[in-house]
Amino acid sequence: MKTAFSFDDVLLVPKYSEVMSRKDINIGQKLKGLHPLRMPIIASPMDTVTGVRMACAMDKQGGVAVIHRYNTIQEQAKIVAEVRMSGHQVGAAIGVGDTFIDRAKALVEAGVNFLCVDVAHGHHTKVRYALQVLKNTFGDEVHIMAGNVATLEAFNDLADWGADSIRVGIGGGSICSTRIQTGHGMPTLQSVMDCSQSDRDAALIADGGIRTSGDIVKALAAGADFVMLGSLLAGTDETPGQVINTKNGREKIYRGMASKEAQRNWRDRVSSIEGVSHTVPLKGPVADVLGELRTGIKSGISYSGADSIPSLQSKSRFIRQTTSGQVESSTHIKRI
Ligand code: IMP
Repeated sequence: MKTAFSFDDVLLVPKYSEVMSRKDINIGQKLKGLHPLRMPIIASPMDTVTGVRMACAMDKQGGVAVIHRYNTIQEQAKIVAEVRMSGHQVGAAIGVGDTFIDRAKALVEAGVNFLCVDVAHGHHTKVRYALQVLKNTFGDEVHIMAGNVATLEAFNDLADWGADSIRVGIGGGSICSTRIQTGHGMPTLQSVMDCSQSDRDAALIADGGIRTSGDIVKALAAGADFVMLGSLLAGTDETPGQVINTKNGREKIYRGMASKEAQRNWRDRVSSIEGVSHTVPLKGPVADVLGELRTGIKSGISYSGADSIPSLQSKSRFIRQTTSGQVESSTHIKRI
């Protein structure tokens, strides 16, 4: 049986560096068909993460966001049009059900920069069909992101079916209960390591379970071109949702799109519950959170003696750490 590694199981070995300043490190990435991004971060298509404000802020900061699909076609197209009117790049999620092509056409009409076929189990015949229809309809005009997948075989299939970028990670999200509910999944870092072996040219997006800038650096070193973030952005000023007072202070809700709460709000029925709803502390402006992540990513790249994401990928070396290594790796002053 294969062993699958998660973020905490590994560390990157520090290497000789000639990088003089973090200013000399470039973390820009290109997503085919879009203006170049200044950082490799994409905000998740979730109703407690990305609305108009988050989409505009992500673009301003050099990343990009995806608008979720659990609304009417008109509502989602209006959000996209609003973000595009204010001059920003944005993506939007679609499903694979009966009306997916109507939704896709309305979003393209509204000026969306890319579509995201957003399915929990992306290695599926319905995704193959949807990608075929999307390619037949839009050709190479519209960037198509798809997912989620956990294996190299699935990554290659989605690339061959026409996906320009692929979300990699099943069951790793902070609000995800897929592995508990279904027994299926794969540690996100291992999925990234496996999918990065692909010879297809689809961009690899590590998605789910990323908690720190250190995790981002590990995901990039393992072969991800981008990371997709939910919980790290949750609770910032720009996320949709009310501020609520809890025993922990001022908080906001962050929930899985397959949680009972999200399903009740957006769908006409509750089916397999594969997510939870939680409150998270307010974090202030997303620019501050992204600023810290940016600094951490750049610092991480320089520890590997690299000055860009591609050079990190070629220079970095992983080691596996033991349980005592994991304890030493987290701040442990209180345990002494
Ligand atoms: P996080 O960054 O660890 O919070 O994970 C966010 C990711 O979790 C999203 O980008 C989705 O891929 C995934 N996700 C969102 N909602 C659900 C859910 O209800 N169940 C399982 N995974 C989810």
